[in-house]
Amino acid sequence: MTIPTPCSQVRSGAPLTWTAVLVLALGLAMHAAEAAKKAGAAPAATAAPPAHDYSKDEVHILKVQGNLYMLVGAGGNITVHAGDEGVLLVDSGVAQMSDKVLAAIHSLSDKPIRYIINTHFHADHTGGNETVAKAGMTIAGGNVVGDIGASAANQAAVFAFQTVLDRMSAPAGNERATAQGSWPTEVYTTPERKIFFNGEGIVMMHIADAHTDGDTMVFFRRSDVISTGDIFVTNGYPFIDVEHGGNIQGELAGLNKIIELAIPKDLQEDGTLVIPGHGRLCDVADVVFYQEMVTIIRDRVQDLINKGKTLVQVKAARPTLDYDPRYGTRPGSADRFVEAIYKSLSAKH
Ligand SMILES: [Zn+2]
Repeated sequence: MTIPTPCSQVRSGAPLTWTAVLVLALGLAMHAAEAAKKAGAAPAATAAPPAHDYSKDEVHILKVQGNLYMLVGAGGNITVHAGDEGVLLVDSGVAQMSDKVLAAIHSLSDKPIRYIINTHFHADHTGGNETVAKAGMTIAGGNVVGDIGASAANQAAVFAFQTVLDRMSAPAGNERATAQGSWPTEVYTTPERKIFFNGEGIVMMHIADAHTDGDTMVFFRRSDVISTGDIFVTNGYPFIDVEHGGNIQGELAGLNKIIELAIPKDLQEDGTLVIPGHGRLCDVADVVFYQEMVTIIRDRVQDLINKGKTLVQVKAARPTLDYDPRYGTRPGSADRFVEAIYKSLSAKH
């Protein structure tokens, strides 16, 4: 198990002012546009990628701050909140990495795993639910009595927004239900669900119709960390799962919520830390840059729709072009993002 370098050390040592950030961002965008021009139109790959072999993959542990650690390498990022009362996780990674995830957690704490919070239903965030939850033991008391049944009390409780359970237990169309042992045991339907654990207020915040229709972001108030799920990622454009209720407007509402809650330290660096669904540990400046990118591309697509362009014409206009070298390197991802925005903005409500 290796410890990756924290991003604060990877980033430039000199503090950046907002002006410098903006100049840098502009420079990057211009450089990106140049690179895109030189590269020409990237051909879209049609072959499906081969199934990933997890046997050689490792789980990396990164200390975040306060009670929090980040596990990287098991699918979506996993947040570990460890303290005297036990362990709380945000997401559980892919099923194939569960043993390695448990080993990483046990290296951080010898206390039981009490809770898992799922940010949404995708398998790279919920696949480990069954194995990881069964290794734990919930606390059926305090403000989390809820509807935990006798069988569920012998494992960690799994929190999620209601639609996560709906999608996993009774999926639409010809999708298969996931195994019952991986389903959430504690669902909520309100804008927020709060628990107090390990001396810390923890807020689950439902963001309506964003990455999916069942997104939860988690705010650790004392440690000052936000786990975002896939509403925020650093390794590509946001994936908006329109088929499962995702929408560009909710995506932006989620990014705005992070910016609203996060408080930067000196010169816009550090302060509140943000654990993305995929990619590296961030602070609010990273989220602001990403939110601006998403907003700009959303507005470009809206403008093309206002001019009466079809989806084919909107894609051909390449509204993501200047950002593609940074976020659109996976074949077809830029087109998928544009299509999701187009469908979001064209949908009849
Ligand atoms: Zn996802």
